[in-house]
Amino acid sequence: MNVEVDLVSARLRAPFVSARGRLQDRPLVLVHVEDADGFVGLGEAAPLAEYHGVNVEDVLEALEACRIVLNAAPPAARHENVLAEWRRMAPVPAVAAIDMAMWDLEGRRAGQPVWRLLGASAAEPVEVNYTIAAADRAGASRQAAEARGAGFRCVKAKVGLGDDAGRLAAVRAAAGPEVTIRLDANGAWSVEEAVATLHALAPVGIELCEEPVHGLEQTRSVAAAVPEIGLALDETASGAGALENRVCRAVCLKIAACGGITGLLDATRRARAAGYEVYLASTLDGPLGIAAALHAAAAVRPDHPCGLATLGLFAGREDPFPPRGGRIEVPTGAGLGDGMADWYRPE
Ligand SMILES: [Mg+2]
Repeated sequence: MNVEVDLVSARLRAPFVSARGRLQDRPLVLVHVEDADGFVGLGEAAPLAEYHGVNVEDVLEALEACRIVLNAAPPAARHENVLAEWRRMAPVPAVAAIDMAMWDLEGRRAGQPVWRLLGASAAEPVEVNYTIAAADRAGASRQAAEARGAGFRCVKAKVGLGDDAGRLAAVRAAAGPEVTIRLDANGAWSVEEAVATLHALAPVGIELCEEPVHGLEQTRSVAAAVPEIGLALDETASGAGALENRVCRAVCLKIAACGGITGLLDATRRARAAGYEVYLASTLDGPLGIAAALHAAAAVRPDHPCGLATLGLFAGREDPFPPRGGRIEVPTGAGLGDGMADWYRPE
């Protein structure tokens, strides 16, 4: 199996601001695998150093090791066996890239979309949230109005940035009463701050708050103290034992953090067995990561709108999966779908 790895830098329209920092140029790693019969599969690593604790250099190094192992393997060897040891050692975004490429390849060999290989009998459009990226009241209000006009039923706003109450009041006023508002604190608060702030923000009408605090016991404490707002694990969901015992209502799962489609389906099974509701999101993925999540969503059937409408945040690149009426269509072509490779090489 021949493997090629390319580092791509994709510029965002505006710096993406969260409680953890600002990001303007998003590094993504494109993986291209080709089997002995000439079938090609594509995958992508989307590491966020702040989120995964893994930087892009670690991912490139791991993918180079993978390239050497796969190139040296006999053509008839199964990649699951050849890569078992590599997978145990490699950072999860690198594992995700190879997993995605192998699903794409398998779908192309079979002439089937990946969602069918995952056992889904149909692929309904996936309900997604609109991400309010603006950190100021006027910008947030404008974006909330745009989301409402475009038919989104859920908007998501970052909190823990200062002026949360003022900005969320502006969002509610512009979004109207029907649209649900999801918060994401990216673990910015202590337990005490989370409890006080969420009590204060509850009257705005909150769907869920993602990662108010880091840590399972901390999340359990906030959930007990603020029963009026559902909480979701995000960063904390990657920790050991996070999915085995339920500490709050929901969990947000990501392709890059779960090690690809295979890891995401496994995480979903474990989370649901513990009683969690599940939804999916991107880590500012490129179209291959978004496509992988859309195929996975057809099998998972998420319980809440997914954070997959993030391709519009990139500048100078056409979104291959534009949301319509707050939903994104699952690709129907073979593998992960067609028409994505050019996105990584604009112009
Ligand atoms: Mg989050």
